[in-house]
Amino acid sequence: MLSLKQRCIECGKDFDIRARLYVCPECGGLLEIEFEGDELRKNLKEHPLEGQINVWKYRAFMPVASDSKIVSLGEGGTPLVKCDRLANEIGLKNLYIKFEGANPTGSFKDRGMTVGVTKALEFGVKTVACASTGNTSASLAAYAARAKLKCLVLLPEGKVALGKLTQTLIFGAHVLAVRGNFDEALAAVRELCDKRGDIYLLNSINPFRPQGQKSIGFEIAEQLGWKVPDRVVVPMGNCANIWAIYKGFFEFDMAKVTKGIPKMTGIQAKGAMPIVNAIENGLDRFEPINNPETIATAIRIGNPVNGAKAIRAIRQSKGSAEWVSDKEIVASQKLIARLEGIGVEPASAASVAGLRKMIKLGQIKRDEVVVCVATGHMLKDPEEAIDVSEPPMEVPGTVESLETLK
Ligand SMILES: *Cc1c(COP(=O)(O)O)cnc(C)c1O
Ligand SMILES: [Zn+2]
Repeated sequence: MLSLKQRCIECGKDFDIRARLYVCPECGGLLEIEFEGDELRKNLKEHPLEGQINVWKYRAFMPVASDSKIVSLGEGGTPLVKCDRLANEIGLKNLYIKFEGANPTGSFKDRGMTVGVTKALEFGVKTVACASTGNTSASLAAYAARAKLKCLVLLPEGKVALGKLTQTLIFGAHVLAVRGNFDEALAAVRELCDKRGDIYLLNSINPFRPQGQKSIGFEIAEQLGWKVPDRVVVPMGNCANIWAIYKGFFEFDMAKVTKGIPKMTGIQAKGAMPIVNAIENGLDRFEPINNPETIATAIRIGNPVNGAKAIRAIRQSKGSAEWVSDKEIVASQKLIARLEGIGVEPASAASVAGLRKMIKLGQIKRDEVVVCVATGHMLKDPEEAIDVSEPPMEVPGTVESLETLK
């Protein structure tokens, strides 16, 4: 395990896996944990892919030093639901939804936090911290509680969906409401963690968190009978997830578990689409957006910390990026709910909305096997779900009033 390296994606320098780093100390670039092929094969002998599907089934691919410190709530193992009615409606033959709302705190963030909080214990800190649009804090607060760590959370004031705020509070985090948006809250907590060696930052800039999220790719491949789909569609906020899923398929290919990498397709909301702009204009760097706005609060991010990784994942997998309006997001949220019985939050619906748009534009073939990642549960944002629905009709409590109904 100790021959693993943290490698800067910009300058290529390697750093000891035991160093507590967030970015490259030389050039400020993002770090990635690199497994070599030999090492993976050795790990796979020690931890074969056996038993029930969950994040720790893929222990061979997880950069933790020993099993003794693992903090787990049974995350992962979420359903991959074949969606024939939805597929038919939008013009595809084979469509699946990977329902990440089925995780312990209702979003895919749990896959990252099981690894991230385990690393916090390895590093011996007593406090973990994050800035969050809501799901990161809900998940971190839960895993910190389980690990007996203090948890500090910065939320953009008045902008966090009710379900996410509720979770963060009940799990006992110290919650601060920042007068400003998410990007500003993140900048502040990053600076604090740089200054204070005793607080470990668990935002998605943290190189270990996405390692757990690779398991979305592993699970999709396994659930399709150890085959990779043609395309995986992912909503992009801070952009760790699209990279992590790409990396999962990449490592399965490297370890010869499965073959090939799906076209990674990233979706952003129209009011928060710096990566879509960069991909459309063929740029390697993106221009941050100052006042991001969208109903999909989980992807209301103008300056994605992992933007450079998202651009790489999309380019290297021959994928693409597309934007969607809030109206398209809400329409897809209802479609997923009413045709398939799957309740997702707006950010998750962006993946299906983007897929629909790309099919209409003729960019996706009818016979492609497509997986949309539904990143979070509908109950995360109950106010939005009520706002976009018809209110219940009021009737007297008599059988006569019911009999007149059609
Ligand atoms: C965090 C989150 C996203 C965005 O993921 P990134 O890794 O930041 O791109 C999308 N949807 C939901 C529900 C989320 O919680
Ligand atoms: Zn570097």
